Amino acid sequence: MTHYVVTIDGPAASGKSTVARLLAERLDAVFLDTGAMYRAVTWAALEDAVDFDNPERLASVINAHTFAFEPAAGVMKTFVDGTDVTNSIRDPELTANVRHVAASETMRARLVEMQREFAAQHGRVVTEGRDQGTVAFPDAAVKFYLVADAAERARRRGTELEAAGAEVELEQLRKVIEARDESDERRAVGPLKPADDAILIDTTRLTIDEVIERMLGSME
Ligand code: C5P
Repeated sequence: MTHYVVTIDGPAASGKSTVARLLAERLDAVFLDTGAMYRAVTWAALEDAVDFDNPERLASVINAHTFAFEPAAGVMKTFVDGTDVTNSIRDPELTANVRHVAASETMRARLVEMQREFAAQHGRVVTEGRDQGTVAFPDAAVKFYLVADAAERARRRGTELEAAGAEVELEQLRKVIEARDESDERRAVGPLKPADDAILIDTTRLTIDEVIERMLGSME
């Protein structure tokens, strides 16, 4: 099957998921949320009460469970051993622990393999993450890299959390987002960075529709 892959990378809360989902619809492609993959492995590690400071034990989690990722209406459903974890992997406490999985070379290699299998299976894919244009799909048809001011990203994430009924402290949220960016940028394997041939879009002052139009415009 001929693959058609569009990659969207960028820091936390830069709008990647929303934009990737909508762009996939416009391109008649399937949306791949690679952050959900890292989150699913973290979910399994927490279930197994694995010590995050024990890299070998942590790496064994990926072989001890079955992970499945299925496109559904507007979302990517995530399953661990048949349990639907699509919502529970968004938990802030889990989010704070994803960095342990993200730093593991063994697990990154296995997850990149799963991402390529997903693309091979679905053919037309819009994928979002941190290393999609650099590591997972260096030959992608089009690569985007989204950025936005940390304060604006905190505001957007805050609105989402408030809509879900959570209490939000914007300054604290900004600190958490910045800490995650730093750990994503500094890791040795698959760090957060734009591919040399990525199209950079600063979404700070753009609406979602404007981002999509800009992307489609740059693909003509
Ligand atoms: O995008 P999301 O916030 O769901 O990603 C959660 C975490 O998973 C990121 O902060 C990052 O550490 C990790 N991740 C990664 N590589 C990807 C996607 C996500 O390391 N391709």
